Amino acid sequence: MTIEPLTITISELYDGYINTDETNDVKGYGGKLNIRPAFQREFVYNDKQEKSVINSILNGYPINLFYWAKKESNNTTTYELLDGQQRTLSICRYLSKVFSIYPNNKVDSPKYFNNLTKEEKDKILNYKLEIKVFSGTDKEKLAWFEVINTVGVKLREQEMRNCIYNGSWVSLVKIEFSKQGKLMDNLFGDYIKGERNRQDYLEKALSWISNYQNISIVEYMAKHQNDTNIDEIVSYIKSVHGWLTTLFPKYRKEMKGVEWGILYNEYHIRKKTDTKLNSIDIETKISKLLKNDTIKKRSGVYEYVLDYDNPNREKHLDIRAFTENMRLFTYEKQNGKCGHCGKKCEISELEAHHIKEWFNGGTTTAENCILLCKDCHRKETSRLLKILP
Ligand SMILES: [Zn+2]
Repeated sequence: MTIEPLTITISELYDGYINTDETNDVKGYGGKLNIRPAFQREFVYNDKQEKSVINSILNGYPINLFYWAKKESNNTTTYELLDGQQRTLSICRYLSKVFSIYPNNKVDSPKYFNNLTKEEKDKILNYKLEIKVFSGTDKEKLAWFEVINTVGVKLREQEMRNCIYNGSWVSLVKIEFSKQGKLMDNLFGDYIKGERNRQDYLEKALSWISNYQNISIVEYMAKHQNDTNIDEIVSYIKSVHGWLTTLFPKYRKEMKGVEWGILYNEYHIRKKTDTKLNSIDIETKISKLLKNDTIKKRSGVYEYVLDYDNPNREKHLDIRAFTENMRLFTYEKQNGKCGHCGKKCEISELEAHHIKEWFNGGTTTAENCILLCKDCHRKETSRLLKILP
């Protein structure tokens, strides 16, 4: 691995600049520099940051190092931008008159590049950019990228993975899974939390499909790195969406953030033939459960109804527990005895239960609390299991 310094002027950087949104093709430096390689995140600078880059240049201030990676094939040298994408794009966008600046903070006179004086234009065009050019293997590139990445806006884990497994598959998958109005946004935009253009949606889809195949996200990405289609993950995601919207046709805000792919992996085959899982019965159950305020984890109702034959399914709901004060109050009220058999017990030996069951509208309050000894607790628990909705 080697790192060589390179100095170019802004005029050289801007030479041959193209920026086509459809193909994500952004090039500069006579067409030799790929400004938006597959592993780079989307442009995230705001207006103010863009303007301040140009003002720094006009004032002759330094704007820090840029990092490129060198690629050689068939005796031609090309470069990929590793770090400095935001600054590079700010420069090129300004030169192509996408935005204006206020030289010397005179807010009443915005200036596009073409509005500058000859002297100001030259100052920008002749400004020298300091670049470190890296040559080495992909693995070395990544290790180095991680180091320089600690300086700027930190990359998310999935953005980093896109860098390691950069290739035809990543380029294709980013279009359908990270862009507005594309597949993942259309199907799961209402069901996933996080930022689409920071690769959170792609990460979610990958975590689901890799869980389905019992491998890790990086194993999945490594396996498909050089694929020239993304059919498998597309068809998987469509299946999850089809299953989800068939079983739960009514959308609710509680559905956002549920691990739908994981639920699909777990339940779609195991309980495919179950007649109990039909969307009408499910909807009745869910609408009733969501009115119950003893349920703390409201989004858990979906797994709860899917897991209907698991005796421990209550765990998905995180039922509100009795507080220490409620237990103390009840202990006094029961004169230190089990509420069913009357055996004398220490408070630590007693378990709190709802007198009227939570699923029948019983609240988690001192008035609805009963403390039971170990034996009575076991009996009560098995009685509840039989009548749990
Ligand atoms: Zn008892």
